[in-house]
Amino acid sequence: MSLTSFGLPVGDEDARFEEFKKTYLEEMWRTYPTWASSIGYHKYDNTLVVPDDESRRVELAFSQNLMMALTHFELAKLSTANKTDYHMMENQLKSTQWAVKDLRAWEWDPTTYNLSGTFAEMLNNDYEPLDNRLRNFSQRMSYIPAYYEAAKRNIKNPTKEHTELAIEQINGGLSVFEMDLGEAVGKSGLTNDERAAIKKRAAESIAAIKAFTKWLKELDNKTPRSFRLGKDLYEMKFAYDLQSGFTAAQIYERALARKKELHGKMYEVTTQLWSKYYKTAMPEDTFAAISQMINRLSEEHVKPGDFQSAIEKQIPELIAFIKRKDLLYIDPSKPLVVRREPAYMAGVAGASISAPGPYDKEGNTYYNVGSLDGWDSAKAESYLREYNKYILQILNIHEAIPGHYTQLVYANQSPSLIKSVLGNNAMIEGWAVYTELMMLENGYGARPMAPTQDAPAEMWLMYYKWNLRSTCNTILDYSVHAGNMDKAQAMKLLVNEAFQQQAEAEGKWRRVSVTQVQLCCYFTGFTEICALREEVKKKEGTKFSLKKFHERFLSYGSAPVKYIREMMLN
Ligand code: ZN
Ligand code: ZN
Repeated sequence: MSLTSFGLPVGDEDARFEEFKKTYLEEMWRTYPTWASSIGYHKYDNTLVVPDDESRRVELAFSQNLMMALTHFELAKLSTANKTDYHMMENQLKSTQWAVKDLRAWEWDPTTYNLSGTFAEMLNNDYEPLDNRLRNFSQRMSYIPAYYEAAKRNIKNPTKEHTELAIEQINGGLSVFEMDLGEAVGKSGLTNDERAAIKKRAAESIAAIKAFTKWLKELDNKTPRSFRLGKDLYEMKFAYDLQSGFTAAQIYERALARKKELHGKMYEVTTQLWSKYYKTAMPEDTFAAISQMINRLSEEHVKPGDFQSAIEKQIPELIAFIKRKDLLYIDPSKPLVVRREPAYMAGVAGASISAPGPYDKEGNTYYNVGSLDGWDSAKAESYLREYNKYILQILNIHEAIPGHYTQLVYANQSPSLIKSVLGNNAMIEGWAVYTELMMLENGYGARPMAPTQDAPAEMWLMYYKWNLRSTCNTILDYSVHAGNMDKAQAMKLLVNEAFQQQAEAEGKWRRVSVTQVQLCCYFTGFTEICALREEVKKKEGTKFSLKKFHERFLSYGSAPVKYIREMMLN
């Protein structure tokens, strides 16, 4: 439908807005068919947007029209839930305009032209009968040659870093068309004609993809753009992506202060613990002393074969602790389903939450726990030292209870497709990071019968190290993209001041050179939630209840903290 003629029914503002949200999402999925597929909306699985001038014109028109339509609503008359939806939609539309006109990553970041994930998903994810998925796959694939022709016309002075990564990723994804597709067709009930058509399109697609990466490799790129975003673009991207109440510069200042605070606390705990673990004198150098103590505590880890059971065992302990301390209500009818990591996720180890997509109401939420089966002993040892007995508990708090999983259960109680689709990452990650601190503040890790109910000093030291990681990620991201931090300075920050292993720090440098703002979402959300808690405490004085604060905070769903703040302080 045409949005300029969008006939808004008269009447209740919220009812009209609910209708509008449906139109909004439908328009959005039509404009972004591969995004739609990725979140489980499969109506447009058979198309692919060719990224040419015309598609950018359509994208700009989409956002302008919906922005106009949005102005027809009176924000003040909307319910709390709809107010936040309104803000999130408005941000999404403005951000679209900015990305097309100002950020222009479509010119300088060739990794935006990697299609393998989109196509792999259609083969691996069993949302529809295989034959249907393959027919959509085939139609979508028919756009690939035009897609890469448009990509070549778009690219201007790309950064060296994104160009190299794009070549690697896009070539790496060729197996989807060269191997996986053929296997799937073999298992299907497609006719011989259909099979032949797919085979022909696959050959054309493979040729187009190979031609594109060859073109990238041979590109005469004398004046590549710097991978640094620059201060102005960075501030804008930070504002659109995180929708924080703080500017990037303010968050950076807070991260510097937090780093200093954490170093002070780490030194204090190290001094306190030293004689318990070492007979020798403590090194003069503060960082050397802290680092030795961390290394010593990292030796306390489970055996490779016990990794999964150790994680599983902690879930009921976390729930019992939260109940005992009355920290927030945990819905007993929504127990977390712990499962062994499915095969297609294997090799990642650790633990992660898989939640059903916003259009998949039947799906279960799982806690995937990785296994270290088949890892060589050196790799397993290094991993287990990283996820030692202390950090493993913090990981469970973050991923499961009361972190991501609990937040998700609360978010599902005020269902909003807008919030599921445009959910605010700073809020989501910030909550998980906040709960790590909150659990320790309440004594998590102490033996229940211990004379004091404080979390053990060892637990605190490892927590500080863990928290230092997100703090230094923020410092790194800002210093690199809004400043001029080079690799040597970055390594010094991560290895010397954040106690990271060389390999982890190298990986972080690669990540910061191809992403922007992403690394800040943890610390930004954490900072905002801690600041909000202080504000609410001050306002409510002796009436402040931590449980009420948590439950109210989570009741608004995955909205930006600055809007939750407005509603909580009102
Ligand atoms: Zn060991
Ligand atoms: Zn997380």
